[in-house]
Amino acid sequence: MTRLRSAALVLALSAALAGCQTVAEAPAAAPAPQPVASEPAVPAHDNLNATAWVQSSVEARMAHRQAWRSAERLLDAAIADASWDALSPTDRIAPVAGLPPAVIVDVDETVLDNSPYQVRLIREDGRFEDATWNAWVDEARATAVAGAPEFAQAAAKRGITMIYLTNREHAKSAVTRRNLEAVGFPPAAESQFLGLGVETPGCVPKGSDKGCRRQFVAQRYRVLMQFGDQLGDFVSVSDNALEARATQLQGFDAWVGQRWFMLANPSYGSWESALYGNDRSLSRDAQRAAKRAALRD
Ligand SMILES: [Mg+2]
Repeated sequence: MTRLRSAALVLALSAALAGCQTVAEAPAAAPAPQPVASEPAVPAHDNLNATAWVQSSVEARMAHRQAWRSAERLLDAAIADASWDALSPTDRIAPVAGLPPAVIVDVDETVLDNSPYQVRLIREDGRFEDATWNAWVDEARATAVAGAPEFAQAAAKRGITMIYLTNREHAKSAVTRRNLEAVGFPPAAESQFLGLGVETPGCVPKGSDKGCRRQFVAQRYRVLMQFGDQLGDFVSVSDNALEARATQLQGFDAWVGQRWFMLANPSYGSWESALYGNDRSLSRDAQRAAKRAALRD
């Protein structure tokens, strides 16, 4: 046996013995459980992730900017094409010929970011209520949705009227226009604000549906583009059930990203209430159960 082989044999034997020794040893006793200082449970809230995304993610800012910037790049083409109009045939109740150009924008989560209101609901474990919402609106401290003021300035420069068609109460016109101006939007006249409850002669609105107000605009403007965070910002939704909502887009798909621009809002909306049959009187547990039942594997 060479000296090298002897050394290898000694090493192998040592390793084997070490292995035997390890196996032979009694397993170390598990450490005795230590008392843990009780920590308060972190409250759960269904809107936590969505609100965190809207408020803190660069992804949200990019998504919103890309919608507004894409639209801005199309403005000149939209103005130049006299037949370019973004209202559905139902809402286009007057011919576009000769009408001045406008764009229709929703307000909440389209041009103004109300995520601090959602934060209040999360912290207080609350739900949307008109009183707390209107108090928030009166504070006039919503921030701008990324990219929206720049678009509004570009539209104003081209002589395009911005129509704020919103389900904020019409009485909130002044405070909302003040809030918009404070965060970089061009000053807006009272006539540019069409809130919930505004008079629309010849048309009686159904609840918060925006159809009458779109038709009011149709008689005064050629609408180059519409912007919103809800399907109902573009068309009247007569049946807010999941399948019926999907059919509303039929015939308009080519307009998405061209005449219609959707801003991402994962926090709330008719997409959510559609999941629990639009029954806001249901408990949160019942709403959550319905949402879980709608998930697909
Ligand atoms: Mg909205």
